[in-house]
Amino acid sequence: MQVAAYGAKSATSDIEPLTIERRQTGAHDIAIDIDFCGVCHSDLHMARNDWGVAMYPVVPGHEIVGRVTDVGAHVKGFKPGDLVGVGCMVDSCQSCPSCDEGLEQYCENGMVGTYNGDDKVLGGHTYGGYSGKVVVNEKFVLRVSDKLETKAVAPLLCAGITTWSPLRHWNVKKGDKVGVVGLGGLGHMGVKFAAALGAHVVMITTSAAKGEDAKRLGAHEVLVSKDADAMAAHTGSFDFLLNTIPVKHDLNPYIALLKRDATMVIVGAVEPLEGFHGAGLIMGRKRIAGSLIGGIAETQEMLDFCAEHGITSDVEMINIDTINNAYERMQKSDVKYRFVIDMKSLKAAA
Ligand code: NAP
Ligand code: ZN
Repeated sequence: MQVAAYGAKSATSDIEPLTIERRQTGAHDIAIDIDFCGVCHSDLHMARNDWGVAMYPVVPGHEIVGRVTDVGAHVKGFKPGDLVGVGCMVDSCQSCPSCDEGLEQYCENGMVGTYNGDDKVLGGHTYGGYSGKVVVNEKFVLRVSDKLETKAVAPLLCAGITTWSPLRHWNVKKGDKVGVVGLGGLGHMGVKFAAALGAHVVMITTSAAKGEDAKRLGAHEVLVSKDADAMAAHTGSFDFLLNTIPVKHDLNPYIALLKRDATMVIVGAVEPLEGFHGAGLIMGRKRIAGSLIGGIAETQEMLDFCAEHGITSDVEMINIDTINNAYERMQKSDVKYRFVIDMKSLKAAA
């Protein structure tokens, strides 16, 4: 089936209209009409080949919310009309130890990304949510509550789970002092979740002007990382740091913020990092860890938590023909706090 989409034909081209092929609904598949798709900084990284692994055309988008239009003969539990979500993965081997533990994102045979993954059915590579429709194996489709504002749910499928998973894995709890580094799409969800888990949340930002917003989102304090005196005042005081900075940066000032035995999780910089001083970790038995999105069951748990606690993303709606401008703004850290594409605009643009 031919479907309208938007994508990049090369690392230097704009995101522009394209037509892509979607498979017919297989026995275990769910066909979805996409209503909204969030814009993740990873979309920009992949479209511009920042990580050196892009396959073109790149059709980005892995924060998908829409309605089921068709289900395969063996699908149970979903029916046409259901409100559903699709995040960063559309398949995995389902038989390795990681998949068995519900950690499909770490599939030992390679999970299939929603875009730029190996398409096991059609061949070639997968295309993401900047498109009218998607067909996905039922195991990778999430249930979305209609209690929440649908357009503001889309970013939960990546920004939400990517921040929820490490906060849960590292057992962030009431009273912990948690720093969220970088107030963008991921960071603003990190602040909301850490606050909802009862932590004392400090927004660590390069943009002093975002301070008021950070407090509205749930931060108790704001720390401007460019202010050396302010950083020094917080030395050795954090139980946990969630670092969403999208590019390589000096880790030493953040390591200095950690308490003894505390952990900083890196989710942002998927690239070589600058060196850091070993003593920063050794003196205090500190840890630096990484984390990739979250498993399917955990993503459902996060969506259910959000429905119960009324948590959604703060979104700025855009039409798909302004996506290149949204990328420019995202690159300048000018996002409040997630762009979401209203996919009705795709039909209008077609
Ligand atoms: P975003 O909306 O652009 O936000 C990033 C924020 O980081 C900016 O708003 C800015 O906040 C801060 N920042 C930007 N450049 C910086 C620099 N040079 N030094 C210090 N701070 C800087 O991006 P996002 O969508 O949240 O994504 C963040 C990163 O996570 C991206 O690299 C993305 O690819 C990655 N990601 C990883 C996973 C995973 O599974 N691990 C999943 C999704 C995304 P302030 O203005 O507050 O400083
Ligand atoms: Zn993402």
